[in-house]
Amino acid sequence: MAYEQGVQRAQRRASELSVGVLRRAELIATQIDAAMAAASMDVDPATTCGIDDIARMLAVQSRYSHIGALARIAPATGLILCSTFGPEANGFALPLPDHVRRERSVRLSVRPVPAGADYFVIAQGDVAAFVHSGVASMFLPTIKDVSLGAFIKDGGPIVLHRGTPHLASLRRLEQTGASASFDGSRLLSLSASRTSDYIAFVDFPATWVRARIYDAAAWFIPLGAVLGLALSALLFLFLRNFTSLPAALRRALQTDRVYMEYQPIVDMRSGRCVGAEALVRWRRGGVLVPPDRFIGAAERSGLMPLVTRRVVQLVAADTAQFLRKHPEMHVSINFSALDLRSGLAVELLTKLLATTGLPARNYWLEVTETSFVREDMSQVINQIRALGVRVAIDDFGTGYANLDVLAGTKADLLKIDRQFVHAAVGHGQASEVALAIFGLARTLCLEMVAEGVETQAQAEFLIGCGVQYAQGWLFGRPNSVAALSQWLDETQRGVSEG
Ligand code: C2E
Ligand code: CA
Ligand code: CA
Repeated sequence: MAYEQGVQRAQRRASELSVGVLRRAELIATQIDAAMAAASMDVDPATTCGIDDIARMLAVQSRYSHIGALARIAPATGLILCSTFGPEANGFALPLPDHVRRERSVRLSVRPVPAGADYFVIAQGDVAAFVHSGVASMFLPTIKDVSLGAFIKDGGPIVLHRGTPHLASLRRLEQTGASASFDGSRLLSLSASRTSDYIAFVDFPATWVRARIYDAAAWFIPLGAVLGLALSALLFLFLRNFTSLPAALRRALQTDRVYMEYQPIVDMRSGRCVGAEALVRWRRGGVLVPPDRFIGAAERSGLMPLVTRRVVQLVAADTAQFLRKHPEMHVSINFSALDLRSGLAVELLTKLLATTGLPARNYWLEVTETSFVREDMSQVINQIRALGVRVAIDDFGTGYANLDVLAGTKADLLKIDRQFVHAAVGHGQASEVALAIFGLARTLCLEMVAEGVETQAQAEFLIGCGVQYAQGWLFGRPNSVAALSQWLDETQRGVSEG
């Protein structure tokens, strides 16, 4: 862009200049025409070069600033018969013409009086007009390294100029009929006259054009850099706002793309369903985003309170009727440690009980063991339990919480993490750890819920370890409340008797 702009700017300048030069050349041309016409008017051949004739030529010459002298010549030989130079020039033979066009000849650098100046001479018939080349060129602008001037159409010579123009290049451009060219080494601009034989030219060296390109680049490069930066910043913001997980989740929270599923929790000895865990789901573009992923992102981006509010709102709407139908059951809700710390958990549970009108035993709260590693949660846990809501420590065994802390925190249940359930029926060190975990729960005198029970063998082993409740694919996958309700109707009739 800088290149184009620079060349365009140089071309504009060149064409302005050449129009100026053309005006000067046309002025000279009109003066020559007028002077020659006046000099050849009504001349009686008998009185040619008489005193009146010379006086008349002097009067004509004085009217035109660019006409240095007028002369009568012998058309065949070019000999000066008489002139306004005075008798000194009489008998001077004009050199052979440099160019002839429409009966008019042009001669350059003619010096009829040895001590005088150089002229270019236009001759037609027996009249010759002398134009002082130096004086004519003086009216042209002087610009360093730039040559400009005018030449005669159709192969004629350069009649006035400043600098050292390259005639061959000018001719080539004239032949193409174009008015400007830039070949990388010089920029040429031509302006042809409509009223005279002259073509004005301007010849800029490449260095001059390059300077215009650099001028333009001085604007374009910082401008481009600023625009580039602004664009990348916009793109960055756009991508962050529209594709980042928290931003997309924030938008999804207001829609039914975020919803809850409920996984049955069963009493292992009786096989009876005692409740369900509420698990949040997010369908994004037809694909389920794993909660582990977006819950973590929500916690890091400060979106967690919004998620938890939405979860509790959905749970209230989904389960109120279900729990009225199954008053002995509960729904277990997952809260983040952040929700407990901020007081949001207490606030939302209080509201939940008020809006549903259900007794507190219908809801459990789950919070991960990791939450207890760094801080003492006993106060808020006590507040929640004071509401009548049971508290389960989730993912037990994975959080490495201090035993004293756990013992001091009066939770109601431990949810044994899936990895220990799976390891327990195996052999080796992992099963030892699993057994130790179950032992620990008994020591703390807490009820246990085993998570991720997938096989009958696991279930039997857990019963042997004194685990009361279980949750897992063996009993039921997470599903809608309607599906859970139907599943209960189909499978639970007579379970307790059985
Ligand atoms: P979690 O609280 O430990 O939830 C149990 C996870 O185990 C669920 O994964 C459940 O689908 C899965 N699961 C249940 N039975 C089986 C089984 O037999 N085998 C196997 N392999 N997996 C089983 P999900 O739904 O992907 O949830 C992952 C985690 O996301 C949850 O772990 C919980 O930490 C978090 N989460 C889910 N919903 C919520 C919520 O509403 N709020 C908060 N704060 N966290 C939630
Ligand atoms: Ca849980
Ligand atoms: Ca868990």
